[in-house]
Amino acid sequence: MKKKCTIAIDLGGTKIYFALIAENGDIYYETKHKTGASGGNDLLKQLLEGTKLLLEEAEKLNFDVKAIGIGSPGRVDSKNGIVVDCTPNLKNWQGINIKQAFSNEFNTPVFIDNDANVAAYGEYVLNKENKKTIVVLTLGTGLGSGIIHNEKLFRGSGLGPEIGHMIIEAKGRDCSCGQRGCFEMYVSGTALEHQAKKRLDEYPDSLLNKIRHITSHDIFDLAEQNDIFCALLIDEMAEYLAYGLISLINIFDPDLILLAGGISKRSSLYLNKVTNMVDKKINYTSFDKKIIQIAESNEKSGLIGAGLIAFLGYERGEI
Ligand SMILES: [Zn+2]
Repeated sequence: MKKKCTIAIDLGGTKIYFALIAENGDIYYETKHKTGASGGNDLLKQLLEGTKLLLEEAEKLNFDVKAIGIGSPGRVDSKNGIVVDCTPNLKNWQGINIKQAFSNEFNTPVFIDNDANVAAYGEYVLNKENKKTIVVLTLGTGLGSGIIHNEKLFRGSGLGPEIGHMIIEAKGRDCSCGQRGCFEMYVSGTALEHQAKKRLDEYPDSLLNKIRHITSHDIFDLAEQNDIFCALLIDEMAEYLAYGLISLINIFDPDLILLAGGISKRSSLYLNKVTNMVDKKINYTSFDKKIIQIAESNEKSGLIGAGLIAFLGYERGEI
């Protein structure tokens, strides 16, 4: 009997990952391509061609492809499979109807969602957490998010939540989204790097002065070596993370908050401060610190999540 699988596509600004995914999230086969620079319909063509190759590969491996799942940057109308809004990282991607293009080409059902949503779903499955309401924050270059409720991604009226753009500081730092004071401008690798560069002159003794191209990894490395400025930047980030978490707990009353992504790997530098601060400042009298956890984060969570949302959609007949 043929093994069941889905085709997963994780579309990024520089690379596109394609894979055949098993029902338990295992990757059967994987390939990656450079994202075409012209974007728009050329990029769509690239996705269709990549999918054709994967379908051929599945045939050779004797797999039965049940559905196709795609994680795309931007705000995605998952019901209609349209990219409603997209950052300039992907040119001419806004307004692209992915679902229509795939349906014209293939008989296999296709499911599309925002890349952060899909990655959050992947983290949820990889962490094998059997909880009712889970908030996943992916702390990386930016701040991605996803809410899983009753084993399904919560998508609101269709586009899904964007926790990274929750306003955390009225009249705060300018965000590329047009708002001010967004969570992502305080808690992300980019925010750390931006603050480091902006305020480095005030800390001539900081070892960061010796680094030409400062990355958030440098800031964490030097904080570990007790660099006062780097430790201060991480403390500030931790404080905003704690405030953001308090709001999220008040809104969603989650069973679990998973912190995923590259910055979550450095949690020894801030997690205790964050959980203690949430505990101290939150209005819950019986707050349980253990609901805030570091995910067993996997760099393939976006790809795995894309494959799994396709399984979920297929099984539930959401075609
Ligand atoms: Zn914003």
